[in-house]
Amino acid sequence: MEPTITAYEYSDIKQHVNALVSAYLAVNDRHMRSIIRAETIAYVTPFLPEGAPLTQAFLAGLQPDRLSRKEAAKLLPLLEPAVIPFPQFSTKQLGKLFRKVKKLKQPAWASLNLHELTYLGWNDGGSQKKYLVIPDHERVIGIRGDLAPQTIKGVCAICQTIGNVSLFVSTTKTSGLGTYTRNGNYICRDSAQCNRQLTDPQALQDFLAVVRPQR
Ligand SMILES: [Zn+2]
Repeated sequence: MEPTITAYEYSDIKQHVNALVSAYLAVNDRHMRSIIRAETIAYVTPFLPEGAPLTQAFLAGLQPDRLSRKEAAKLLPLLEPAVIPFPQFSTKQLGKLFRKVKKLKQPAWASLNLHELTYLGWNDGGSQKKYLVIPDHERVIGIRGDLAPQTIKGVCAICQTIGNVSLFVSTTKTSGLGTYTRNGNYICRDSAQCNRQLTDPQALQDFLAVVRPQR
């Protein structure tokens, strides 16, 4: 099956299913719960591959009243074969994205769910750097910046969610004359968490437009 669901759509579906589970815990009226369930199903269905067995299995799994958090956590991964995974880059490929970096720390691939990634981000705690690999049409752009050691509560420039953010400062060459601009943005310290919160890619594209290196 050709995957058709994007990672940010998958995050959106997960958030809606988790909101449904939370509503079940808060709403005592059975009829009210059935209305909220119907709304959730109506919201997520257009994202799913039409007529696919996994779509049927997933929607059937959403039918029972008062689905628990545990059951929802088992149900959601059913969709993963239909989600477009983020590509796993080799050390060599990453090296090409960050040519100036001598000893590039590699992302912890084993801990990442590629179906949850709209972009790739990882930290090098030792040098207080953050690395980002952001898709841009048919290519990917590598962005490296300084990550402040302090974490504060604030809105992330990428996922637009309130959480633990740190100041990320990247340097962009803005003209052929060698003028550099430093851009500071507060973004989630934990990029895996950021991706789970990212349901609309527009802010990521806006962020990329500001920080991307000029050619
Ligand atoms: Zn974020």
